[in-house]
Amino acid sequence: MNRDHLIKPILEADYPMVKYGKGVYLYDQDNKKYIDGSSGAVTASIGHGVQEIINAMNEQAKKVSFVYRSQFTSEPAEALAKKLSEIMPGDLNWSFFVNSGSEATETAMKIAIQYWQEQGVYTKTKVISRWMSYHGITMGALSMSGHVARRERFVSLLDDLPSVSAPYCYRCPFNLTYPSCDLLCASELERVIQRTGEDKIAAFIAEPIVGASAAALVPPAGYYEKIKTICDRYNVLFIADEVMTGIGRTGKMLAIEHWEVQPDIVALGKGMSAGYTPIAATLVSDRIMDPILKGSKSIMSGHTYSANPLSTAVALAVLEFIEKHQLVDVAADTGKYLKEKLQEIAKKSSIIGDVRGEGLLLGIEFVTNKIEKRSFNKAFNISGLVIKKSMKKGLLVYQANAGEEGVTGDAIIISPPLVITKKEVDELLAILNEVIDEVEEELGL
Ligand code: PLP
Repeated sequence: MNRDHLIKPILEADYPMVKYGKGVYLYDQDNKKYIDGSSGAVTASIGHGVQEIINAMNEQAKKVSFVYRSQFTSEPAEALAKKLSEIMPGDLNWSFFVNSGSEATETAMKIAIQYWQEQGVYTKTKVISRWMSYHGITMGALSMSGHVARRERFVSLLDDLPSVSAPYCYRCPFNLTYPSCDLLCASELERVIQRTGEDKIAAFIAEPIVGASAAALVPPAGYYEKIKTICDRYNVLFIADEVMTGIGRTGKMLAIEHWEVQPDIVALGKGMSAGYTPIAATLVSDRIMDPILKGSKSIMSGHTYSANPLSTAVALAVLEFIEKHQLVDVAADTGKYLKEKLQEIAKKSSIIGDVRGEGLLLGIEFVTNKIEKRSFNKAFNISGLVIKKSMKKGLLVYQANAGEEGVTGDAIIISPPLVITKKEVDELLAILNEVIDEVEEELGL
């Protein structure tokens, strides 16, 4: 087949051609089997080829696939919004459907700004985010992202938004240790708000567990409680970007539920449809909707495909599948098993510096020296080698670093579908173990 027309991530790379997927496995044109150890980009959370989802997709397609949201609403869109309001913590009772995580975070930003405008406050237009974060690839979402590699070509076009340090305990940005650090990384938010001016800040956005830019960074106890106290003190909304962590991935419906904190706005994507169709959502709490309902009565955003019947029917079927098979609890249990096994591999390995994460969102950070934690050299990154060798042996994992030499770690994410069995986890681990041994041997370690 001629492959000269599709713009792929790396143009000269020789990607295998996928033939089909079943459960936690993908098969290529030569029937080579791959265990999906990352759910693609942390997306295929109920595995591939699930018949219930295919049926739901088929049933809805037979009725109607698309309507324009300014002309019609649809049963699946209404039902999905209702379902989300039932399963989400607190009063996140409103859903705005979009097509990608980037659109969901960018919409969250716009809703936060609009919330203040509805009350006559027009200066609160900036969103503070964390350096070493990823909120999406569109210009607004990228402006909020501290992902150097994805920003660098467009810096002059991005909004110059304030940022704070990520809670990266393995490489503390302040060279301190928890708990004597007194959560300085959270206190930094207060300093940045004061320096920028409370009257300019609409919201603070964070991935509850940092994903693509740092591989499953879990902040220490008390971090989010402190963040939320600061947000409340300065009238700053709290947006949880749960595009990667949401819908059970970390062993809770939302990752923020690991802490005693209620977000004002939530961005969802990826696992929401488990990859069966493009759909994402911005969830809004009653408190934030209230002035909008009383004011302009409309959210100034939207896309042609927003809330289309086909995608909403698929996402609804995915949520029902997750509920039926109690996959949130299963993720917590299987994740604990997988993490323990990864920690065992790390103990005997000379290149695994850190194993971290929650549920089935786990990160492994590689170092060339465990004591000095030396890592990430753009010319030679261990994670790249691990990924290449894993793929050759039939295991897919996900590279996670923000591309900033000397700051970012060299890491991968292991995030198999939530339906993975412990036997399949052992299969994944056996390949990973072999790969780590091979890389160490190549490095002469
Ligand atoms: N937010 C987070 C936390 C993500 O991990 C991603 C994608 O990796 C996005 C936003 C952007 O989502 P999408 O790639 O669907 O636009």
